[in-house]
Amino acid sequence: MTTVSGQKSGGLKLVLFGPPGAGKGTQAQLLRDRLGIEHVASGDLFRHHLSNGTELGEMARDYMNRGALVPDEVTIGMVIDRIGQIGGGEGFMLDGFPRNTNQAQALESALGERGQGIDRVIHIQVADDELIRRLSNRYICRACQRPFTRDAATGAPPERCEDCPDGGDIYQRDDDTPEAVANRLTVYHQETAPVLDFYRERGLLADVAGEGSVEAVNASVLQSLEIAGE
Ligand code: AMP
Repeated sequence: MTTVSGQKSGGLKLVLFGPPGAGKGTQAQLLRDRLGIEHVASGDLFRHHLSNGTELGEMARDYMNRGALVPDEVTIGMVIDRIGQIGGGEGFMLDGFPRNTNQAQALESALGERGQGIDRVIHIQVADDELIRRLSNRYICRACQRPFTRDAATGAPPERCEDCPDGGDIYQRDDDTPEAVANRLTVYHQETAPVLDFYRERGLLADVAGEGSVEAVNASVLQSLEIAGE
């Protein structure tokens, strides 16, 4: 399967871009299954450090709980190191990174040193009131990080993760509280949204409407990559 730049879709280097709650994680799981490329989510990397009690995790905790950005000196190195573990010919999709123009520049330089670049930035657009509704209903599997919502009929979250063999524990993130959500949306509009111009100028940006069903959004995402849906 070839796509966007005419290269094999298994080697695609993508950025999934959008506000918290836009569905980046959900779409990433579908793309990973479809294209077999690695999902690198900066928030997941931080949560992994937090649950392992590392120094980096302890340093990030307060920023995360407030919904603020963890400083670039910590974040950029962590993500670039992770990308460095992926073979040059292999694809990946970044989720939650870059979140400001400084990070976008650092990513461009780091990939440039390897003779690589981002092939497409998929911008999933969702209005703020819908994001607030989604985040207050969001639950995550502690093991695989898959997002879930409350059951429409009962209003209850699932008890265990259906994807994990031993049924991973489901929990609500500390930063999905109303105060932290409000702050995360402010940070998104002030610090992260300007990254869109960075990629628009480079002709890499694809806008995707993110308020339809998961399947409809996925079809638009695949279309933006010039990949036919099922
Ligand atoms: P996320 O899971 O992407 O919503 O990220 C959770 C939290 O991790 C964010 O609210 C930030 O505190 C921190 N974080 C994740 N990615 C970044 C990033 N690229 N730059 C700075 N902080 C980040």
